[in-house]
Amino acid sequence: MTASFIPPKRILMGPGPSDVPQRVLDAMARPTIGHLDPAFVELMEQIKSMLRMAFQTENALTFPVSAPGSAGMEMCFVNLVEPGDKVIVCRNGVFGGRMLENVKRTGGVPVIVDDAWGTPVDPQKVRDAFKANPDAKILAFVHAETSTGAQSDGEALGKIAQAFGALTIMDCVTSLAGTPLYMDKWGIDAAYSGSQKCLSCTPGLSPVSFSDRAIERIKARTTPVQSWFLDLNLVLGYWQSSGKRTYHHTAPINPMYGLHEALVILEEEGLENAWARHRAMHEKLKAGLEAMGLKYVVEASARLPQLNSIYVPEGVDEAAIRARLLNEFSLEIGAGLGDMAGKIWRIGLMGYSAKQENVDYCLKAFKAYLP
Ligand SMILES: *Cc1c(COP(=O)(O)O)cnc(C)c1O
Repeated sequence: MTASFIPPKRILMGPGPSDVPQRVLDAMARPTIGHLDPAFVELMEQIKSMLRMAFQTENALTFPVSAPGSAGMEMCFVNLVEPGDKVIVCRNGVFGGRMLENVKRTGGVPVIVDDAWGTPVDPQKVRDAFKANPDAKILAFVHAETSTGAQSDGEALGKIAQAFGALTIMDCVTSLAGTPLYMDKWGIDAAYSGSQKCLSCTPGLSPVSFSDRAIERIKARTTPVQSWFLDLNLVLGYWQSSGKRTYHHTAPINPMYGLHEALVILEEEGLENAWARHRAMHEKLKAGLEAMGLKYVVEASARLPQLNSIYVPEGVDEAAIRARLLNEFSLEIGAGLGDMAGKIWRIGLMGYSAKQENVDYCLKAFKAYLP
């Protein structure tokens, strides 16, 4: 007989998932109800309203996709890009590369703006790309590149796209609730995030938000959205508050309880206080790491507080240290991706993981292994 699975106790300081507070886990253990139950509809309305607070938006169409952040990404592209549409895609890490892949698969014509990994997107390059491609319909960029720890200027990029009459798709999987983000003020038309990073819920849900301009664009499509599951025209009938809700798919009920609780916790703390906490914990971690001689990959002005990428010192076996951290300290940190594999570590301070005891514990663990 196979025994029940009991997960080991871990401290999650990687690129996500982050530590999940007991309150969220408790919420998820409550009894399952039907997805068309009026009580569940009420829960969804509260989630939508709290997500508007997190995204800093008035967008009516703000809700959690029943799938991880990657599905939120795909929802933005399959709905907003029609075959032949020109899309300016900024690539300064792994996730910009995934956006590019989405553009290609939806039949869009990508115009790539490349920046070195570890640096933010250069707004001047984006302006130049629009000048050279005035027919570009969409700008796509990653606000917080989790693969490198670099933060791009969402406000500058949103304003450039608006000036050229284009819509903007912004990846804020790692930035939402961790670092200042103002969807409406920046003029962002479509944004997607994830439940397991700075919101500290379990993985598997992707909060998204779409502006009225984005909805107009979707309604004016001349070709059907290639994905049935992610077609907003259909999903809308399920998540809309007014009128009759129609069955589209069965929402993951208990994870929604968890997301609701995570958002209640965020509301209690206050969004700006949550941003300030991430910043303060980052400063403490940075001071400790730098005192050990460790160097940051990203320059200070573009550093994400919630994702600290540091170079592995010369002659140190990075995978061996990560394995010891996990086995002896039960501490998870992240490795480098793509071009940065083997060269960097990524230490997350996301959501509930961004607290003093985690910072102290992580520094203690590093001190045990570094020369
Ligand atoms: C984690 C992440 C994603 C993907 O989210 P999943 O929930 O793993 O699908 C997308 N973009 C960025 C910037 C991320 O950090």
